Amino acid sequence: MRLEELPTLLQTLAVDALLVSAPANVRYLSGFTTPSDGRVLLTMDGFWLITDARYEAQAAEESRLPVELRRDWLPWVAEQVGEGRLGIEADSLTVATYEELHERSPGILVPLQQILAEKRMVKSAEELASLRKAAQLTDDAFNHILGVLRPGISEVDVALELERVMRSQGAQGKSFDFVVASGYRSAMPHGVASPKKLESGDLVTLDLGATVGGYHADMTRAVAIGAIDAQLRAMYDATLEALIESLAVIGPGVTGAQVDAVARAVLSRHGLEQYFAHSLGHGVGLQIHEGPKLSKDSTDVLASGMTVTVEPGVYIPGKGGVRIEDLVLVTETGYERLSNSPREFISV
Ligand code: ZN
Ligand code: ZN
Repeated sequence: MRLEELPTLLQTLAVDALLVSAPANVRYLSGFTTPSDGRVLLTMDGFWLITDARYEAQAAEESRLPVELRRDWLPWVAEQVGEGRLGIEADSLTVATYEELHERSPGILVPLQQILAEKRMVKSAEELASLRKAAQLTDDAFNHILGVLRPGISEVDVALELERVMRSQGAQGKSFDFVVASGYRSAMPHGVASPKKLESGDLVTLDLGATVGGYHADMTRAVAIGAIDAQLRAMYDATLEALIESLAVIGPGVTGAQVDAVARAVLSRHGLEQYFAHSLGHGVGLQIHEGPKLSKDSTDVLASGMTVTVEPGVYIPGKGGVRIEDLVLVTETGYERLSNSPREFISV
């Protein structure tokens, strides 16, 4: 978001000032990479990143907004805002801070939600560069782990190796606690790595992502350890078909619900729709889950520059599960894959 757009933001939200406290929004507006220890104040007279003296050098280097170093920042904010309408982020400001602001500020506090959600959906060239790099590091880590997967290695060791290789290649961190779910555990869509050891005949779900510049990558693949049974293989093929068919409709003007419906129709053809218990995908950026939503009831409309995941899955309790997830960029003519790992069935 360009700095010239900030005064317009106040107008759009119908407030005289805005206290931004959600870390992803603080980072988005200021560039400060420790946003959990910062907040942004926008008024008609100016805008500031507020943090404390521990971050003096870092904030000076990173912030594109003037920096105000204050440990006890609340009275200063109340003073800047005066009697105006101060917008606050209802989904991130604590009740304690709200009460203190309420006590000190002579103006009106206006609780707001999702203030930058729409703006953040469409990525700038700079944001895209970070996302591309994060996706590439994720692909590289997946490629590396194919040589590591074998019977006897634990899910935890697989997750640690994925993280180690990402970090050593330049990722700043991991997007989330990786899912490494093998055998019966693969029926858990969010089965984070456990001490369970991989066994021959397991299908292993790996959901992973690197972060670069605060931006998250997100990709899932399912890999067979040796030979898997026919039912698991059929689940894999149906999930891949759902991924490919739903990707084919991605483009500007399409709603999240329309894309989600395609995946469900494919799985329904295979009698598997009831085992697809989550939504098809989500936007990705400074947060691992952000807008737009690709779900049954999503009215979000895709536009060029949005980055979304498409991740159909089939999970049969007691049997196992499969999810295949690509991160893609919506383009003028359709989409471009940012995840480039192979999607065809792999057995190691
Ligand atoms: Zn994922
Ligand atoms: Zn995802």
